[in-house]
Amino acid sequence: MTGATIIGAGVAGLCVARALLDRGVDVMLVDRHADIGPHACSWWAGGMLAPFCEGESAEEPVVRLGREAADWWAAKTSAVHRCGSLVVSSMRDTADLARFARRTTGYRQVTGSEISDLEPDLGQRFTKGLFFESEAHLAPRDALAELRASVLADGAAFVQDDADPDRYAQRGLTIDCRGFHARDKLRDLRGVKGEMLVLSCPDVTLTRPIRLLHPRIPLYLVPRGDGIFMLGATMIEGHAGKHATARALLELLSAAYALNPAFGEAEVLEIGVDSRPAFLDNLPRIRRSGNLIRANGLFRHGFLLAPALARMVADLIIDNKTPEVMDETAA
Ligand SMILES: Cc1cc2nc3c(=O)[nH]c(=O)nc-3n(C[C@H](O)[C@H](O)[C@H](O)COP(=O)(O)OP(=O)(O)OC[C@H]3O[C@@H](n4cnc5c(N)ncnc54)[C@H](O)[C@@H]3O)c2cc1C
Repeated sequence: MTGATIIGAGVAGLCVARALLDRGVDVMLVDRHADIGPHACSWWAGGMLAPFCEGESAEEPVVRLGREAADWWAAKTSAVHRCGSLVVSSMRDTADLARFARRTTGYRQVTGSEISDLEPDLGQRFTKGLFFESEAHLAPRDALAELRASVLADGAAFVQDDADPDRYAQRGLTIDCRGFHARDKLRDLRGVKGEMLVLSCPDVTLTRPIRLLHPRIPLYLVPRGDGIFMLGATMIEGHAGKHATARALLELLSAAYALNPAFGEAEVLEIGVDSRPAFLDNLPRIRRSGNLIRANGLFRHGFLLAPALARMVADLIIDNKTPEVMDETAA
């Protein structure tokens, strides 16, 4: 094996590029855009590397494979923060906290005073929580920029092209990592709409991602440093609409206000919307047909699962090892 072309330079394509370069494969990266930006779903991610928390609603492989992610990103970039994550609920929603605890592992229960020791700016608002100490988070845009720079520095070529992977595959090994845009070929791929906000609120300091449980719209807040926060994210089936709805913004902002009323004075820097690429069971898939491999379906686990997905693509190409997320559907 000498060379491979990767179509799509979001988190999936960049991680596959890194994994192949690390194993001595020449890489050509193709994207319709010159650089990573708001056109890619990866741009809008919260960047939580929280496999145990995800276990609340995700299948077992997400928890297991996601545990590779923090070390992988820390080895490849400087964007990782290892401060754990904190899950809290209002007094009214303590049943949700108990349910979350039953469905997850890797945490310790924390009292109100332990919560305010961990995050003084949450004050005494919460009396119980779960602290997932081994979890991490990263700044997705920084991580993507660093990863892209490193693969280009290590010899990957970049071509800007609105590409048809099937045509590239006629010339050599091609990996389709176009995320939701691959729906033209992956008919069982669906979009799950996510809406998020970037807020500036210098009056609040938080160290780690906070999840606020709520029966209708669970919210998370990821600190980006310097008073900037990512607030997310809705999960709407059917990728309806390209813009955020008033209801989503109201619910996200009122949840932030419940975490700390100082968020009432926050400036809204960005409103982001995109479709997470997902298969029916919300697990990623690798499909192969001759020279063409499609790696997709990262759903809400782009940064969490792309390292494992990339490792499996490299194992398939180099060692002919069948990935555990391979399915028999032709690519
Ligand atoms: C609001 C929100 C919050 C999220 N939070 C998290 C989180 O906290 N943690 C987490 O792990 N995941 C999170 N995700 C999920 C994550 O963002 C996605 O799983 C991930 O970005 C999918 O990556 P991808 O590389 O498959 O697709 P994309 O990032 O969309 O990349 C696809 C690339 O393919 C290119 N492309 C498309 N068509 C063509 C073509 N024909 N030719 C050439 N190039 C093409 C595009 O330009 C793009 O660069 C979140 C998603 C959303 C929307």
